[in-house]
Amino acid sequence: MRKLIVISLFLLLAWDGTTQQTGRYLFKEYRDAIEKQTRSNDGSPGVNYWQNAANYTIRAEFFPDENMIRGHAGIEYLNNSPDTLSVLVFNIYQDIFRKGNSRDWDIGDVDLHQGTQIEKLIINNFQVDTDNRRSLRRSGTKLIVPAEILPHSENRVELEWSVQIPATRTVRMGRYSDSIAFLAYWYPQIAVYDDLDGWDMISYGGSVEFYNEFGDYDVQLTLPGNYVVWATGVLDNPEEVFKPLILDRYQRAWQSDEKISIISREDYIIDNVTIDREKLTWHFKADQVPDFSFGAALGFNWDAVSVVVDAETGRRTLTDAVYPDGAINYDQVTEYARKSILYMSEVMPGLPFPYPQMTNFCNGRRSGGMETPMMANNSAPEEEPGIFGLTFHEIAHSYFPFMMGTNEKKYAWMDEGWASLWPHVLVDSLFPGYNYVERSVQTYINHAGSEMDIPPMVPNHLLGADYGALRISSYVRPAMAFHFLENALGTALFLKALHVFMREWEGKHPMPLDFFNTFERVTNARLDWFILPWFYESAYPDLAIHKYTRDRKLVISNVGGLPLPIELLITFTDDSTIEMQYPTSIWQSGERQVVIDVPGSLTVKEIRLGSKRVPDVGSRNNILHIID
Ligand SMILES: [Zn+2]
Repeated sequence: MRKLIVISLFLLLAWDGTTQQTGRYLFKEYRDAIEKQTRSNDGSPGVNYWQNAANYTIRAEFFPDENMIRGHAGIEYLNNSPDTLSVLVFNIYQDIFRKGNSRDWDIGDVDLHQGTQIEKLIINNFQVDTDNRRSLRRSGTKLIVPAEILPHSENRVELEWSVQIPATRTVRMGRYSDSIAFLAYWYPQIAVYDDLDGWDMISYGGSVEFYNEFGDYDVQLTLPGNYVVWATGVLDNPEEVFKPLILDRYQRAWQSDEKISIISREDYIIDNVTIDREKLTWHFKADQVPDFSFGAALGFNWDAVSVVVDAETGRRTLTDAVYPDGAINYDQVTEYARKSILYMSEVMPGLPFPYPQMTNFCNGRRSGGMETPMMANNSAPEEEPGIFGLTFHEIAHSYFPFMMGTNEKKYAWMDEGWASLWPHVLVDSLFPGYNYVERSVQTYINHAGSEMDIPPMVPNHLLGADYGALRISSYVRPAMAFHFLENALGTALFLKALHVFMREWEGKHPMPLDFFNTFERVTNARLDWFILPWFYESAYPDLAIHKYTRDRKLVISNVGGLPLPIELLITFTDDSTIEMQYPTSIWQSGERQVVIDVPGSLTVKEIRLGSKRVPDVGSRNNILHIID
């Protein structure tokens, strides 16, 4: 006989509406923000919350033969803060390749250059002397320009620049082959100025990622006429770049529930793709996005499908896969993307996909991928679950960090945790036996409890180049934390809190405390017992059987301190068994031990604690044989 008992527990300790009393570390910047009422104790944006914005109109030309891009940008910069700014700070990310600049690793010298060349810069009609080092200071990948930017002001910035694109040591972008280029972080971008840190001055060394302001982009890209271009935003002039048959397929794809092959090999053979001109200009528009990237390629296949992402309004998203001949499994990627977008829109997080379009661009590499708004710059992993997981993961970033504007430089867990966790249900249903959660658990316990297992709340940029440490604290540990938080709260309450958080902070800059406080408010429960060990402390997963007493009391110790579900398999002397499952909330008292009553009257022979779905670094203490 085998019996399964699943115990549900309610959260007992009610939230008292404050963060101060929770014992959670409230750092000074956040205390000040609460005082100024830009943030609030209940996790919602404060009544005085403000956010700056930058809208870009860019005309640029990419010269593939020289790996060079040259452009002109008109930027409308809205200083919505109550502060007078004495400088304007730009991100010039390609300065990671500037000779003499610091980087997180040695990238050789083949792609090094003199940095982003600023050929003209005008701020509010004042022409900056671009030859003067004092009026154009470079620090890491930051360009700092003295200026007077008044509170609540609209400012006009105009600049011309050119920069070299890496062709050998690509870092999240670059020239992947003679026929493939993906350009991200390619234009001077006004850095974030926020209510917590002021200007974001964290330089880009190649490891930790980004933090961007939202804005509207109107971008015209000129390339040699045989290239096809995909970008953030919707193509505004398809009739000016495509021949009629391609244009017809492209337009049909926006409404098609079935995959449409817009361009395939045959179309190139019969010269059916782009209009015959030496150069073509591609015009893209995107509203309220935190960045702009584009991919350009010769001879790429292009499949697309459309999916209804909002049942109420009927709104659709076009998702496509663009790839070279021979890219393994890529003929499946539109279907993978369609399934992923539908799942995220309807199930988890269960909010309509934010963008009208989502392109999966294959750069031909064997592993890795990088997200930018509406564009994923992906490799082609050989195994099917791998390419499915990658496709899902990079699309998941549309919610975090892009829809939600989180700061990846400090708190990558706020986006990588979700993107690492969310694929699990679909991967396991499409590829039975892959066991996504079990693999994540295994990855985690390989490092959990080691010195490298750094609490996620340690700002990432302090970990610097150590991506190994980042992988644990930014990806797998927070993925586990979100998974077991859902387990503690139950899916309905978990989703309710997540939806309130996402709706209140959409298009803003939420920080960890906003997330934690919102969850406490919406669940009306104290969650310190969970949040502190998972996010702030050097806790690790290790549950243990402490003892079993004659009066059928089983005492479980939490040796490592991380709240986790308790799963038990109890075998009796007649070889019958029961399984007992307690949710993570069994630890809500904050005590390090819990006592469980073993039901029935049969004599217990053996007790096993844990399963492959619950991380545990000390499994020696998980089996108890009872000898009479
Ligand atoms: Zn990611």
